[in-house]
Amino acid sequence: MTAMILDGKKLAESVRAEVREGVTKFVAEHGRAPGLEVVLVGEDPASQVYTRNKEKASLEVGIRGKLHTLPADTTEAALLELLGRLNADDAVDGILVQLPLPKHLSEQKVLDLVAPEKDVDGFHPINAGLLASGRPGLVPCTPRGSMKLLALAGAKLAGARAVVVGRSNIVGKPIAQLLLAEHATVTIAHSRTKDLPALCREADVLIAAVGKPEMIRGDWVKQGAVVIDVGINRIELPGEVKKTKLVGDVAFDEAKERASAITPVPGGVGPMTIACLLENTLIAARAREAARAD
Ligand code: NDP
Repeated sequence: MTAMILDGKKLAESVRAEVREGVTKFVAEHGRAPGLEVVLVGEDPASQVYTRNKEKASLEVGIRGKLHTLPADTTEAALLELLGRLNADDAVDGILVQLPLPKHLSEQKVLDLVAPEKDVDGFHPINAGLLASGRPGLVPCTPRGSMKLLALAGAKLAGARAVVVGRSNIVGKPIAQLLLAEHATVTIAHSRTKDLPALCREADVLIAAVGKPEMIRGDWVKQGAVVIDVGINRIELPGEVKKTKLVGDVAFDEAKERASAITPVPGGVGPMTIACLLENTLIAARAREAARAD
């Protein structure tokens, strides 16, 4: 079997087009554009690229995107003061603090101070709690994007056996909650899981969110499984100096011979993350306007 390759780039374009339409309607109804403020602390090159892309993608769909760049030695007090101002600003619907933060800043403390209704990353404990209780809230972007890719694959989730490899708060756990909400029988695996290959072979739906290049081999994949590879790993090309490429957590060439559908890296989950961030910003803006009207 050769798998259907799930084109995240194309799907992300259609999500962005829907958001653009939704934003146009929002502007007509409320006389303002939704606002997303992205906060970057320090000069991490990858984070600089990610945040610039987020600002650019926002502007392209009509969201008023703004990037705040703070020096690496920013104090916790200064960052918290900025977040306080953004929380209080009525024109701001979404706030995103780019991770990782410099070591002297507590990520938990900073993320906890983003107003839950503006937490478009879905990392605030209130949003995590709402997701765990099956109640509406802002859902993390990469997990949302992964679910849309499963829908594109036509995966039947009710009653399916799903294995999520990785238990981080930002990827593994929220994906598991979303799969559970769709009535899959979900197992979350991690670094202490025994006989991971055997567990993966039971999965009708296999989600890899580990951060280990091509760790999941083709013979760990059940025939006909749907595979979502969240991992993004940069590796050096064998025999070539300073040449690198991106690979996922799944050995793609092997796995595509057994899976019924699989995401590539790059071009799978990655593009969906920003598209879902834009969608979350529109959702947050609509919810804030609805709360104001109540
Ligand atoms: P974390 O490092 O926070 O979590 C990794 C998880 O993998 C942990 O739960 C860890 O287990 C588990 N793990 C590590 N080694 C093994 C192993 N040998 N066997 C089984 N489980 C293992 O990573 P994230 O969740 O933040 O990210 C995961 C991957 O997804 C990364 O490659 C990251 O770059 C990528 N990513 C991609 C995004 C996108 O837009 N496509 C967005 C966010 C992340 P334990 O808890 O026991 O340590």
